[in-house]
Amino acid sequence: MPIYEFKCPSCGKISAKLSKMGETGEKLVCPDCQAVGLVRQISGFASPGLAGKGSSGGCPTHCGGNCSGCR
Ligand SMILES: [Zn+2]
Repeated sequence: MPIYEFKCPSCGKISAKLSKMGETGEKLVCPDCQAVGLVRQISGFASPGLAGKGSSGGCPTHCGGNCSGCR
């Protein structure tokens, strides 16, 4: 089974869960605030064009658009 990351629209908490294929998270419960209905996050490697490769505004270290670990 794949591991997906889910974001809680209520408190913003992101949690990784081992989920069945195609899980959208709408029935999952936030471990932080117990809100039902999480939003699945798109994996870093599967977001082509999101950062606008080579153009201004992108990440200067080319981390792939997910800058959480590079700044
Ligand atoms: Zn939450």
